[in-house]
Amino acid sequence: MGEMIESNLESMSELVSLCKRRGYIFQSSEIYGGLASCWDYGPLGVELKNNVKSRWWKAMTYRPDIEGIDAAILMHPDVWKASGHIDNFTDPLVDCKNCKSRFRADNIDINAACSNCGKKDTFTEPRNFNLMFKTQMGPIEDTSADVYLRPETAQGIFVNFLNVQGTMRKKLPFGIAQIGKAFRNEITPGNFIFRTREFEQMEMQYFIKPGTQKEAMEDWKERRHKWHVDNGLRPENLRWAPHDSDNLAHYADMATDIEFKFPIGWGEMEGIHSRTDFDLKQHQEHSGKKLEYVDVMDGNKKYLPYVLETSVGCDRTLLALMCDAYRVENKGEDNERVVMRFHPAIAPIKVAVLPLSKKLEEPAKKLLEEIQMDYKCEYDVSQSIGKRYRRQDEIGTPYCITIDFDTLEDKAVTVRDRDSMVQERVPLDKISDYLRERLRF
Ligand code: ATP
Repeated sequence: MGEMIESNLESMSELVSLCKRRGYIFQSSEIYGGLASCWDYGPLGVELKNNVKSRWWKAMTYRPDIEGIDAAILMHPDVWKASGHIDNFTDPLVDCKNCKSRFRADNIDINAACSNCGKKDTFTEPRNFNLMFKTQMGPIEDTSADVYLRPETAQGIFVNFLNVQGTMRKKLPFGIAQIGKAFRNEITPGNFIFRTREFEQMEMQYFIKPGTQKEAMEDWKERRHKWHVDNGLRPENLRWAPHDSDNLAHYADMATDIEFKFPIGWGEMEGIHSRTDFDLKQHQEHSGKKLEYVDVMDGNKKYLPYVLETSVGCDRTLLALMCDAYRVENKGEDNERVVMRFHPAIAPIKVAVLPLSKKLEEPAKKLLEEIQMDYKCEYDVSQSIGKRYRRQDEIGTPYCITIDFDTLEDKAVTVRDRDSMVQERVPLDKISDYLRERLRF
């Protein structure tokens, strides 16, 4: 057998094609020609996404100091006035006067030729373009009925600060976490699911005593980095990108991003922001409702807490996990396989049940019924066993269980490990324990 050569993902298009072929991600409304930069998660994609969300939810809310919520996407329009989104949530937009293409002015050289039509001196002056999607609530088409699709989930948390603090009897420091859709009318979406107009965020706002933001920042930086590594991302594909003071958002006094090395280059995956009391102060002022916290540990002092936020894109995390897991292994002599080396907790399918022959379907289905409520399984009887293993490798299934004619005699099955490809014989009555030991997260 030749020496093993392993290579990583080289281009996004390789991944896009695997995602389509294997049921991870399809273009939205494909039969109508698609809708630009909108994507649908298919059967494997939704499993993968649910695994990512569940890992985040457990890491962030299965602890005594953090509670979860699920706020509405539509909120009172004054929320966006208070948060600064109506005035500030803009990107500088330029048009090419010749071909009408639009660009983000901060992404191009305005004096250069248009990258679409090649014409020079053709750009309009940059103007601010608000990224929020506006729609109307109720049957009357009137500006008084204008509402927005939320551009971030954070504001649903800020406006519920006192509801959660009071009902759950929380003392500082404590956090509120949420997973949900956010919408941004991006000028230049693209690179598959890296930048879309509809996406999911996983955000947590940690309410702290003013003055403690530096420690909170260090603490959460470490935890969030560890979360990504625990999901299987290789540390060499992660780096910090601190924002310098000229680069800070209008609400922040400190911020840093976690970037991942995508095939298109390093890109932001998560932001960790010290938001001070900016948001609570703004909501207190605009709503007229006091949002102060009464600190019983500090002489009943009343103040607005500071906030340390961790904000990660679910879709971008998923993209990073797929890019990182993708390997092509070549052992020479036509012995090549594509394997998604997902951490087993992330893998969409945990176990494949593969009867060697149609005549073995009865014991195979019996085994499947025993394990399918604990692990998402695939059942496959078609084609040669080698082909079936390759199909499972390509979607990252950690374990394949083969039922053969010996199974009828020795009441045992062959379990194949995705990464080592080592096969071992395991008695049928030990399979549950075998899987439980290996798939416990
Ligand atoms: P970018 O600079 O890439 O536009 P941002 O700094 O505006 O991102 P945040 O507002 O901090 O992003 O949002 C937090 C996270 O939400 C990002 O790190 C990213 O993972 C995700 N995210 C933001 N915009 C998009 C988008 N258009 N498509 C997919 N994910 C997004």
